[in-house]
Amino acid sequence: MERVGFVGLGIMGTPMARNALRAGFSVTVTNRTADRAKPLAEAGATVVASPREVAERTDIVVTMVTNTPDVEAVTFGPNGIAAGAHEGLLAVDMSTISPAATREFARRAAANRPPFDTLDAPVSGGEVGAIEARLAIMVGGEAKDVARAMPLFEALGKTIVHIGDHGAGQACKLANQIAVAINNLGVSEALVFAKAQGIDLERTRQVIAGGAGSSWAMQNYAPKMLAGDFRPGFMVDLQQKDLRLVLEGAYAGHVSLPGTSLVHALYTALQQDGGGREGNHALLRVIERLSGIEARLR
Ligand code: NAP
Repeated sequence: MERVGFVGLGIMGTPMARNALRAGFSVTVTNRTADRAKPLAEAGATVVASPREVAERTDIVVTMVTNTPDVEAVTFGPNGIAAGAHEGLLAVDMSTISPAATREFARRAAANRPPFDTLDAPVSGGEVGAIEARLAIMVGGEAKDVARAMPLFEALGKTIVHIGDHGAGQACKLANQIAVAINNLGVSEALVFAKAQGIDLERTRQVIAGGAGSSWAMQNYAPKMLAGDFRPGFMVDLQQKDLRLVLEGAYAGHVSLPGTSLVHALYTALQQDGGGREGNHALLRVIERLSGIEARLR
């Protein structure tokens, strides 16, 4: 069995590393804030001080950090993965970052001495999908590396699709984020409208979730919205990071995305209102404020 490493033990990295342990992999982890590695040490992972040490001790290293510069730092920075590379090392970035930078990182990894292989394998399914090992994983890179990482992917997710070459996984993830954000807006508007109509919000949510108006957001976010529980599974600041990547790609490719532009502006209002570290379903609060109507069960 391949030895597996994880760099980045946040909301997603922690349950993913835990699932790799559960599947029987030997797991080595590191996190910038060392305290956050404690639960994994208790679960049986080896904790080391740097991404370089993770790379030295493992065959496949997963990075699950915030944004493009963070992946660059843990991969090519001082004490990064490249510094601990050895023959046969495969670095799998499961964060959501720029597709163009991902292609550049693949080239730099191939030119490293010693060289190492890379995949981009961003995920969808939220914190709950990570905890329950039900993530959708969209993969970019060479087929031989995808085959090699497949047992690990199967320990973390349910829907695993090789999209294409390096960067294709990240491009697919950005397309996914368009659908996530606009579905989230649809759910927010539906609930505020239902409240204004004076109908029962829980019954409304239940029946919409079973019909053509359903979505992952309707099934997973609507109950939290109605309960006024805006703790993050996926933070607004991260959603905005993703939508910025989408809009940069759209600008470069001359693609008009009116829905995404609108949701991005609504999320900006939420950030300005102090909601950046709330869950992305806090978008409801912006829609509520526009009409002065609160769609909550209590
Ligand atoms: P998170 O809870 O904020 O965790 C981010 C992790 O990255 C932390 O462990 C953080 O270390 C580490 N990190 C950030 N910058 C770093 C740097 N420069 N050097 C070293 N470590 C660094 O975020 P998350 O929700 O797990 O998300 C991680 C990635 O998955 C993001 O790209 C996100 O867009 C994507 N994603 C998230 C979800 C979701 O539902 N949450 C779903 C799909 C995809 P510290 O602990 O030291 O801060």
